[in-house]
Amino acid sequence: MQKYEKLEKIGEGTYGTVFKAKNRDNQEIVALKRVRLDDDDEGVPSSALREICLLKELKHKNIVRLHDVLHSEKKLTLVFEYCDQDLKKYFDACNGEIDPDVVKSFMFQLLRGLAFCHSHNVLHRDLKPQNLLINKNGELKLADFGLARAFGIPVRCYSAEVVTLWYRPPDVLFGAKLYTTSIDMWSAGCIFAEMANAGRPLFPGNDVNDQLRRIFKLLGTPTEETWPGISKLPEFQPFPLYPVTTPLSSIVPSLSSKGRDLLQRLLVCNPSLRLSADEGLMHNYFADLSPAIKA
Ligand code: AMP
Repeated sequence: MQKYEKLEKIGEGTYGTVFKAKNRDNQEIVALKRVRLDDDDEGVPSSALREICLLKELKHKNIVRLHDVLHSEKKLTLVFEYCDQDLKKYFDACNGEIDPDVVKSFMFQLLRGLAFCHSHNVLHRDLKPQNLLINKNGELKLADFGLARAFGIPVRCYSAEVVTLWYRPPDVLFGAKLYTTSIDMWSAGCIFAEMANAGRPLFPGNDVNDQLRRIFKLLGTPTEETWPGISKLPEFQPFPLYPVTTPLSSIVPSLSSKGRDLLQRLLVCNPSLRLSADEGLMHNYFADLSPAIKA
């Protein structure tokens, strides 16, 4: 820890407090995340430590770089690349609207980061605007990749805030335990709609029931026909058969028809029919994206 000079606190996350800090050797600014474990007395489980150390190899321009893992006195501090702000704060500052070209650029970078991690069999599992970090030059980077596998997703944050359900897909809400890359694709769809609506969340549920009801009211209630096996999920419960009555055009009016088509393909209740990140990147919504962003 001598290597880093702690500057100010920058946030509270799911796993602990985040500080801005300076590397004393090269003056580089970093983000230090001190991870609180449920059972701090037990020390850091070796399985978690192995997982985390593998994440150091996950190097991509749309993934927040994990520079270092400091493990001492049963405490764990992760040293990350520093970013200027997160997407939630960006929403707060944008007052009312985000330029459609910026939405497209952010969405492309989100999918590109996901495609990279998924190709390395790493899932995020807890994507939300707070862990999409933005730099002044418009770069978007995904934070906290792979941490859910190492530490699990707690019910409450370290700061006692309830962990949000807003970006969780119906399969996970029904207790599916076999996690696949499709979990992140649902979250990406929710975030896409939220960006297009300048920060208004698409499904701001209060609990699991309310979350599922909001989803089914918009997309229609899935059945064994549209989603074989749904009723066998561990925490499945029947819902009224809501029909699809509200077109996406009225939910995300600022999104072009191509953008709405991409959104529709991400927000699919049956996880096996949801678009993959690679497929998303090839969608014609991105046909006119500036080559500088695609490079
Ligand atoms: P998290 O645990 O990733 O949810 O972090 C909590 C908050 O700390 C985020 O919402 C960000 O505002 C901030 N934060 C996390 N990681 C970084 C980072 N690498 N650079 C700058 N700010 C960060």
